Amino acid sequence: TKFVYDFTEGNKDLKDLLGGKGANLAEMTNLGLPVPPGFTITTEACKVYLESGSEPAALRAEVSEHLTALERKMGKKLGQADDPLLVSVRSGAKFSMPGMMDTVLNIGLSDASVSGLAAQAGDERFAWDSYRRLIQMFGKTVLDVDGDLFEEALEDAKQAKGVTVDIDLDAVDLRALVGRFKDIVAKETGREFPQDPREQMDLAVRAVFDSWNTDRAKLYRRQERIPGDLGTAVNVCSMVFGNLGPDSGTGVAFTRDPASGHQGVYGDYLQNAQGEDVVAGIRNTIPLADLEAIDKASYGELMQIMETLETHYKDLCDIEFTIERGKLWMLQTRVGKRTAGAAFRIATQLVDQGLIDEAEALQRVNGAQLAQLMFPRFDESADGKGGTATIGRGIAASPGAAVGRAVFDSYTAVKWSRSGEKVILIRRETNPDDLNGMIAAEGILTSRGGKTSHAAVVARGMGKTCVCGAEELEVDTKSRRMTTQDGTVIEEGDTVSIDGSTGKVYAGEVPVVPSPVVEYFEGRMHAGAEDADELVKAVHRIMAYADRVRRLRVRANADNAEDAARARRFGAQGIGLCRTEHMFLGERREMVERLILAHTDADRDAALAELLPLQQADFTELFEAMDGLPVTVRLLDPPLHEFLPDITDLSVRVALAEARHEKHENDLRLLQAVHKLHEQNPMLGLRGVRLGLVIPGLFAMQVRAIAEAAAERKNAKGDPRAEIMIPLVGTVQELEIVREEAEQVIAEVEQARGVSLKLTLGTMIELPRAALTAGQIAESADFFSFGTNDLTQTVWGFSRDDVEASFFTAYLEKGIFGVSPFETIDKDGVGSLVRSAAAAGRVTRPDLKLGVCGEHGGDPESVHFFHEVGLDYVSCSPFRIPVARLEAGRAAA
Ligand code: PEP
Ligand code: MG
Repeated sequence: TKFVYDFTEGNKDLKDLLGGKGANLAEMTNLGLPVPPGFTITTEACKVYLESGSEPAALRAEVSEHLTALERKMGKKLGQADDPLLVSVRSGAKFSMPGMMDTVLNIGLSDASVSGLAAQAGDERFAWDSYRRLIQMFGKTVLDVDGDLFEEALEDAKQAKGVTVDIDLDAVDLRALVGRFKDIVAKETGREFPQDPREQMDLAVRAVFDSWNTDRAKLYRRQERIPGDLGTAVNVCSMVFGNLGPDSGTGVAFTRDPASGHQGVYGDYLQNAQGEDVVAGIRNTIPLADLEAIDKASYGELMQIMETLETHYKDLCDIEFTIERGKLWMLQTRVGKRTAGAAFRIATQLVDQGLIDEAEALQRVNGAQLAQLMFPRFDESADGKGGTATIGRGIAASPGAAVGRAVFDSYTAVKWSRSGEKVILIRRETNPDDLNGMIAAEGILTSRGGKTSHAAVVARGMGKTCVCGAEELEVDTKSRRMTTQDGTVIEEGDTVSIDGSTGKVYAGEVPVVPSPVVEYFEGRMHAGAEDADELVKAVHRIMAYADRVRRLRVRANADNAEDAARARRFGAQGIGLCRTEHMFLGERREMVERLILAHTDADRDAALAELLPLQQADFTELFEAMDGLPVTVRLLDPPLHEFLPDITDLSVRVALAEARHEKHENDLRLLQAVHKLHEQNPMLGLRGVRLGLVIPGLFAMQVRAIAEAAAERKNAKGDPRAEIMIPLVGTVQELEIVREEAEQVIAEVEQARGVSLKLTLGTMIELPRAALTAGQIAESADFFSFGTNDLTQTVWGFSRDDVEASFFTAYLEKGIFGVSPFETIDKDGVGSLVRSAAAAGRVTRPDLKLGVCGEHGGDPESVHFFHEVGLDYVSCSPFRIPVARLEAGRAAA
């Protein structure tokens, strides 16, 4: 294997091997853009190191070879005393992990070469400042010295001189500081700061490898679902300097606005500064457009390069660049992160520009982004009313409307959110140590830093609301408060609202309004209208692409007419699951109680007769709302005790009544029934088809209600398409018995009403045995609907009602799974049963209709899986229907 690639050897498609940064540096190099020469050590080398604890044997020689080539190209040697070649050593994994991993700049400087650098640059101060930065960065990241020690020494030096900013330290001061820094290193590590440039480089490379496994990197990967075994590549790049005077500087830019998608000049520039200063949000930057006045030539070249990159990558790119004494250098590019709204707009803009086609446009957006756009927003008109007031304005860094109580540190954010509080994390600026707090918070507010600051980049990645750089707010994390310009004080615990779409910050709780995207799906806003929201137009177009190409149909889980009607507006093509138990609640509970308590057949029949017309009315409404589309009605599923009062409450009631010598026969009978029906494991007990088999007349009543409702709709010239579904079947015999009874009831109704109903009868596949014997079960089923909630529960042996609260957090933290299997289908386990059952069912009955109605039906990743295994439809809650439509389209495109 080859472990080292020159920038001229790679390309953008080699991200697995060269990491994102390395692959794109190579791509830019090969596009002829001004990239400082360098080479990339592959992720493969990192993996060997992480697995075995030492670098691959061949690595050293390969690095030497590439270093020699680099030295030849640059005409100087690494650390050469009279004119040192300096390099940066940067991490670069396949997926970007902002601020997570290590970087060391100015490698190659030493006591021997610092004066050579000074001579070459004609700047003594610059050389000593570069050297002190090297020792500081190297000490902290490579040698594990506490970074505060360097900061303190720097502060001391400034104080001793009576100045406040670094710039006011001159060459002599910095030279003394270098001495201090070297002492710190020697004292803390027991060895001298390494003077051999090659040793510096090798140690830095190793430190980058090691940084793959820091706690914060691991946490970030889990959060972002990045696999833990990818490793990072390391980029060794010749240094260019943005801190060589006013004709130098460094900046970041986007090829179009990452918040709106609009084309234009978006970025930040910092004059006379080195790379990391911008991203860290340490000093305040100027808008990129102002660079034109400072250095017109570089600005012009940069604009041209950005255009080249957009046309080449056919997407929004973000870039980092440095200008060294009027010469522009590209340090990084990648396809840029963007807000959900911008993703939709950019995708359609690029189609209009002819850069991508519709299939590609679908890949540029995803269901999670669409879901984010369906969140409500703040009601602008409420500003100033109801005790809320605008207290500041920052940069709209990541959209959304977040309300919560102010907290000023990560620890409190986590603590409060664990106890159920919604919190807004407020910091002057964030750094990777704040990650836990950012995850726990509803939103993030900072008083410093721009669109590219840590807070902004990470929040956007997480889809969290963020306002950054709200400079008029003075954040005092030590005393846990923030002061506004007019002197209002927000203490820890006060409620604040932040709007990540406008950058506004409010004191108090601002009311929210529905999202325009939901208004559009609801039919209250029309994409065709002249003045329609730009975003709505883009969503409309993307949804049309998705609907055109998708193979999966999308149905809704709905059990009342209102949900059914909304689902239909959202694009549902029927109901995939009507849970009839939801029709047995409220006032009807007593009727169910009577059914359960019935002593005689007559009592029971009377109770059923009472329920029949109510059920029938329910179904009539539902069939009307879904006229012309299939409606799958599932017969009663949950254990009966769920319809009875709680055993403890009831026992107390009975005991009290006894003590007071009051009448309590009814409660006593209820209590007996509750005891009789009590089960240790109700989820594995008397429920689903088992109920239908032991409670005579129950399923027959439900089937009759369905058939009567269908007949009623038919006679009203409607087009009812009812499908009857039997839950929790484990063996074909269960299904056969229920089917026989059901067919008889249907025939009776058809005859009595003089209609042909064409009802179909199918089953849920939600037990492992059903999945394993799907071939047999299909003999008696017109359709299967996978109940992946129960299937996950039974395949894993996880109680679906308990695990999320008990041990899942530990499992997620240990990385046993990256996401709950109740949320995203476990492809290898549960999914493989779905796959084989679907196939076996279709062997028996090639026209078998296949769907899924567990929660996974609306989960983006799971939808792709169901597409792949050939199901006919997914069914999910009404609000997730647009997401499912989009993902089904993406899966097929
Ligand atoms: C399922 O088990 O996946 C299902 C849809 O049924 P329920 O959630 O009602 O048990
Ligand atoms: Mg179920």
